[in-house]
Amino acid sequence: MKNPFRSDTWNHFSKIAYGFSTVDDCCSDSQKEDMSSFMLEFDGVGEPVLLQQIHSNIVLNVNESFNTKALMKADGFITNLPDLILTIKTADCVPVLIYDPANNVIGAVHSGWRGTKDQITSNAISLMNKTYGTIVENVEVIMGPAIKSCCYEIQDDVVSLFNHYPDSVVLRNGSTYLEQKKAIRYDLENLGVYKITDIDFCTGCRPDLLCSWRKQKTEKRLYSSIMLRS
Ligand SMILES: [Zn+2]
Repeated sequence: MKNPFRSDTWNHFSKIAYGFSTVDDCCSDSQKEDMSSFMLEFDGVGEPVLLQQIHSNIVLNVNESFNTKALMKADGFITNLPDLILTIKTADCVPVLIYDPANNVIGAVHSGWRGTKDQITSNAISLMNKTYGTIVENVEVIMGPAIKSCCYEIQDDVVSLFNHYPDSVVLRNGSTYLEQKKAIRYDLENLGVYKITDIDFCTGCRPDLLCSWRKQKTEKRLYSSIMLRS
């Protein structure tokens, strides 16, 4: 097991555990979940909660009545309950972890180009506000490893959806590329969220550490997880 990706900017948060897995701790998209080695990063007490990810902008609140085994169709979830390992699976899309340390509320989001243009991370923060009183000034966000504009070629249909985001569409040698995280950051800053950390590794460039659906046509998926400690 390689150490998961974390950031020094979140080192002072003692009430959460989180991490972005490397390819050594990944899973298959179709396979039954096996988080056994990655789970060790979560105090050995947490219960993994996953979604059936559908490239939507749907965000769910995980409360006492939520069926944590049901693989609900959504692409983000939030909770204030401890010992639930909110887990997103990606292989190029942006995994986003969210923390409100004032109210001790967490969130995790799967943001590919569809979720990004439909502002799923902002939806998650709005739901945190409605459900738990989160205010944007307190929100901290980490964007995990994802495919970057060095590797992410897009066609006109996607270009037209991102042209209004500064610097997110990149022209190079007659082709067009997308920098998804620029769009996510732009929307978050518009919302008033400025504490944004980027774990700036490209899934396409680093097969030694990560996996990329676009580069490798792989079934492998990386885990991105966050848990409140009890
Ligand atoms: Zn790359």
